[in-house]
Amino acid sequence: MEIIFGREEKTSQLQAKVNNLSFTFGDNGSVPKTVSRQHCKVTVLGEGAFMLQNLKMENDTFVNGMGIQTKQVTQQDVIELGSSHYKLRWDYVQAVLSKTVNVSHLEQIWNDYQDKKLQQQIAERKFNTLKGATGLITMIAIAMNLILGNNTMYIVLYAVAILLSLGFTIKAYIAASKLPNEMKVLTEKFQKDYSCPKCNHYLGAQSYELLKQNKACPYCKVNFDFG
Ligand SMILES: [Zn+2]
Repeated sequence: MEIIFGREEKTSQLQAKVNNLSFTFGDNGSVPKTVSRQHCKVTVLGEGAFMLQNLKMENDTFVNGMGIQTKQVTQQDVIELGSSHYKLRWDYVQAVLSKTVNVSHLEQIWNDYQDKKLQQQIAERKFNTLKGATGLITMIAIAMNLILGNNTMYIVLYAVAILLSLGFTIKAYIAASKLPNEMKVLTEKFQKDYSCPKCNHYLGAQSYELLKQNKACPYCKVNFDFG
């Protein structure tokens, strides 16, 4: 996750931005003008390590009193912004992290489930069309009988119709247990995967686009980062 810190233009509070999300910290006017609107970027590297990057040449960013452009830091380091050395508090960084989860992986999960559901429906329809073909062959056989009388062609077609019927009946029997079972497995997996990364609550049948509009988990209220 990447957090961009800077000064909120109107209130001069500290602003933290994570893709579509924005948080403000501190009192109005608490951040001096020497901190720019997009001052520095903090990238979470994991295991308590962060990468700190000064975003513009004209910005001043300090780690333990030394000016830096890019530096790996931990929570033991003191970060200051701007020539008047505004201290970037680590609890603000922690607050952003605890209020935010990235859910960009849910887009793939949602799309995959919709695709597979559609494929299942197509498979079902194809199979039903195939079953209908048996009746068609029987009808052709009867028509042949009326035109040609009881000859070999009629008997062959009738035999084919009977064999196809038998084949389709067996296939239908297998599919009857297989298709709904596949759908059940698919749905169970989706309900497990399409869930809030923080509280693990299944997010229901709301599409990824709808999640984007709602912006937060309806159960634990954590903010969703879609970047
Ligand atoms: Zn949640």
